[in-house]
Amino acid sequence: MSARLFADDVLFFQRLLKSEGLYTKELDGIWGPYTEKAANDFEALSDLLRAEIMAFDFRTEKNIRTLALSAQKQARIFMKKVLAAGIKAKIISGSRTYAEQNRLFRQGRYGNPGPVITHARGGRSNHNFGIAWDIGIFTETGGYITEGAAYDKAAEAGMSEALEWGGDWSGFVDKPHYQLQLGITLAMLRAKFENGDSVTMLA
Ligand SMILES: [Zn+2]
Repeated sequence: MSARLFADDVLFFQRLLKSEGLYTKELDGIWGPYTEKAANDFEALSDLLRAEIMAFDFRTEKNIRTLALSAQKQARIFMKKVLAAGIKAKIISGSRTYAEQNRLFRQGRYGNPGPVITHARGGRSNHNFGIAWDIGIFTETGGYITEGAAYDKAAEAGMSEALEWGGDWSGFVDKPHYQLQLGITLAMLRAKFENGDSVTMLA
């Protein structure tokens, strides 16, 4: 198989695999033959979605493959529509382990360098359950666009009923952010994910 997803966090990967129904054993955080088999099955199903819908740039591919399979499917459909509209978007963030989320949370806080880029600690972000991704939009020459208008256009091109857009949030508006529309609270989502229960009842 290719480089292991979430290499430093087997438990996180097992939760994702179990919520997909691919892993049925203990959530023990140990990489054994059942986890290996489930991971290979997960990779094969990811390959199938890429073949069925569309393949993208390296960075987008890398991030899409960290998502739950139903989110991979929706992310590919979304990206296909956005690119067809002539918008140079990439998926620049997908799933994050709780440890990765905590590292991001510390950025810009406690005397650490860099801007504050998230309000969520590990287990408190939609990116921690395999259902959310962020896009970046780039110019012809690869410059990173930050203005909201480009992100509004991407939403116009790519949104569907299956998705929730951070640009529609009240309070903290997050235009690069998309996730599956699940209709459950973050706390419910976290409980399901940590149990290895399916978090994605649809699509
Ligand atoms: Zn996000």
